[in-house]
Amino acid sequence: MLGSEFWTVLLLCSALCGAAPTVAPTMSPQEDDLAQQYISMFYDDVGTSNVTLRSNVTLRSLVNNTFRDDLETMQAFFGLEVTGVLNKETLEVMKAPRCGVSDISRYGHFHGKPRWQKRRVTYRITQYTPDLGRGEVDATIAKAFQLYSDVIPLDFKQIYSGTADIMILFKGGYHGDFYPFDGSGGVLAHANSPGQGQGGDTHFDDDETWTLSARGVNLLLVAAHEFGHALGLDHSKDRRALMFPTYQYVNTNGYRLPDDDRRGVQALYGSRTAVPTTKPPPRPEPEPEPEEPTEEPDPLPNPRDEQCDRRLVFDAATSIRGELFFFKNGYYWKKNQYGIRFVKVSSKWSGINSVDAAFEVPNSDAAYLFQGRQYWGIRAQAKTIIPGYPKSITNLGLPSSISKVDAAVYLPSTGKTFIFVKNQYWSYDPLRSQMDAGYPRYITWDFPGIGSKVDAVFENYGYLYFSNGAKQTEYYPPWKRVNRVLLNYGWLNCY
Ligand SMILES: [Zn+2]
Ligand SMILES: [Zn+2]
Repeated sequence: MLGSEFWTVLLLCSALCGAAPTVAPTMSPQEDDLAQQYISMFYDDVGTSNVTLRSNVTLRSLVNNTFRDDLETMQAFFGLEVTGVLNKETLEVMKAPRCGVSDISRYGHFHGKPRWQKRRVTYRITQYTPDLGRGEVDATIAKAFQLYSDVIPLDFKQIYSGTADIMILFKGGYHGDFYPFDGSGGVLAHANSPGQGQGGDTHFDDDETWTLSARGVNLLLVAAHEFGHALGLDHSKDRRALMFPTYQYVNTNGYRLPDDDRRGVQALYGSRTAVPTTKPPPRPEPEPEPEEPTEEPDPLPNPRDEQCDRRLVFDAATSIRGELFFFKNGYYWKKNQYGIRFVKVSSKWSGINSVDAAFEVPNSDAAYLFQGRQYWGIRAQAKTIIPGYPKSITNLGLPSSISKVDAAVYLPSTGKTFIFVKNQYWSYDPLRSQMDAGYPRYITWDFPGIGSKVDAVFENYGYLYFSNGAKQTEYYPPWKRVNRVLLNYGWLNCY
């Protein structure tokens, strides 16, 4: 087993380290998009602190550098040659089945070293996979926990009713949290770090084929990896570690916790053999204060719980580079093929606390976010604020009496941006940087059927999606016709 991995590394090295290619092979647009979305999902959203340091470089290189930096971080994490350029080896890793936990933890996951503060941790399996017998699942899950209880002074006990510390389920697609699964392949499972409530909870994508062998996806290996997270371990860069983020089958006969993982988990809980059973586990280090933003407190309730509420109202919505952003009370949901992320606006773009309206101009690699009387330009690819912003909305030609924009959208077929305020709208020409003559006009004159006010609007595949309260109208501009009526929350993977 060790031998085969060693060979893998050697072969990879001979492929990579021979003649150093200076020009990256051309990737297809699909592969390019895959890479963008992968980086966006697992390496993005780490804040904008490095942007100010580079404000003296040109815009173009700023754009390229940020994706390049994230790509380099990803390549370094996986032990690939760090080129900052998308190549075949990097794409192979991106296409490999993997764990759904980000490689750069966000939302404070694993910050402050969360760990269980008790010796006996309970778990319960609330939904089983049809791929295996219940007895097989129970035994495999117990075996995965035992890999840890062999080396740390914790005991794991399965319970069959009530709330356990670690709740486990097998389900595909949307399954009650913010990270819906993606069908067969891709993300296999995910788990929360230790803590109250959902802490430690572990979910397996039931669109995978779970097995006890080398076929399909081996349940013992994936469960043992996820329980590492549930006990407080983050991903490891060690290719031989169980906590490496991509799945790789190894023979599970007599499987023991690899050294790297054993050291990691013993650093949190101590060692089972070294600690007498009567002594409590070592005291945790004092936990650092959670990183609270120092700006003003949230003026509005956190909308996270509203994701799957039929009454959900959006503040703003836009596409940016093929991903959809839905803004609400200073947060946004970002949707792409891997699922949905929930992010605080100010943690991504410092200075912007909430977003009233947003639109993207795809061909100019730019998107614009509005807050009150100001708006910001954002590089679409790098998602960084363009130097020189914020600007006043009067720059767009809006009257100074307007204190807030309700919604905005760019229509590629006409090259115009529509800006909605109360029951009227303006048409802005980004190419000429000026408002078209004859505006504002009443919304009901030109967009029959969508109502007289717009909270949020975005363009997707030639359709405009107008939100008014919880309702959303799918509108086809060439025919000036409503196609169908939807609810906002339907975009947020709530099946
Ligand atoms: Zn993981
Ligand atoms: Zn889940």
